[in-house]
Amino acid sequence: MNRRAFLKWAAAGGAAALGSPTIAAGAPRKVPDDPYGCLVDLTRCVGCRKCEQACNRVNNLPPPSTPFDDLVVFDRHRRPSPEAFTVVNRYHTGRRDDRGQLVPTFVKVQCMHCQDPACVSACIVGALTKKTNGAVHYDVSKCIGCRYCMVACPFQIPQYEYTDPITPRVRKCTFCFERISQEGGLPGCAAICPVEAITFGKRNVLLDLAKKRIQENPTRYIDSIYGATEVGGTSWLYISGEPFERLGFLTLPSKPIPQTAEAIQHGIFKYFWAPLTLYGLLGAIMYSVRPKTPSRISDDKGDQS
Ligand code: SF4
Ligand code: SF4
Ligand code: SF4
Repeated sequence: MNRRAFLKWAAAGGAAALGSPTIAAGAPRKVPDDPYGCLVDLTRCVGCRKCEQACNRVNNLPPPSTPFDDLVVFDRHRRPSPEAFTVVNRYHTGRRDDRGQLVPTFVKVQCMHCQDPACVSACIVGALTKKTNGAVHYDVSKCIGCRYCMVACPFQIPQYEYTDPITPRVRKCTFCFERISQEGGLPGCAAICPVEAITFGKRNVLLDLAKKRIQENPTRYIDSIYGATEVGGTSWLYISGEPFERLGFLTLPSKPIPQTAEAIQHGIFKYFWAPLTLYGLLGAIMYSVRPKTPSRISDDKGDQS
């Protein structure tokens, strides 16, 4: 291959790669019309961790290092992990009960199943998709392990199985996709909660329910529904008696994140092609200066004339 042929090859290859619908566009996106959701009422949660236990069971996750009935885990704030798709954290905001005791607020954390998810937008091979029932679904057979979803997620939810050297996966709450796809099916966590702190249903209905609870109990709740508008809205919604910013919730814009994620993705590709082209050029130079056989030398001479 001479220089002219190499440049032709590089131009054709680069254009083909950048023009590939799989790489340039990712999976098509559409916000579902009538998705399911979960409403978490933080004034009801008692921190029993039954939801963690149920999630562990329905997802066949390994047993936790600290048993589910050991409340010592509340001494530090945890994040979801490949072994725990949901965790409950305890917050003290300074509020005290009649006896002067600090009142805890427990906050269940998991994938928010965003309406227009940044992780889906960032996934260049369509391994993450937003389903019509509201779930953000992960297909391990398509995942190439690039972990752009982890960079893009505003809630820092997707986790990677770094400890699995053979078949590492991205891990996160599945919204119990298979369970809720069946008639009357409930997510494991919502089904088990003993105080009905988690209500599963159509997102629009849950929004009305949340507003009703707030209106009917203005001293119990703050006048805000987390997830109603954040990053374009999420399938998981929260109501609370305490300001969300004191409970570890991020203050996020109402604009969906995908535009930002796509900028990151396109930026990565833009700069990805520079080193790739450099390696291609170096390879071509090495190829052109390699020891030549007599027949090849005569070919090259012919081509250069
Ligand atoms: S099962 Fe319900 S009450 Fe118990 S920690 Fe989970 S959300 Fe809170
Ligand atoms: S919370 Fe993160 S991982 Fe879950 S749907 Fe939204 S962007 Fe994706
Ligand atoms: S919806 Fe399913 S996967 Fe998600 S936290 Fe609940 S039990 Fe776990």
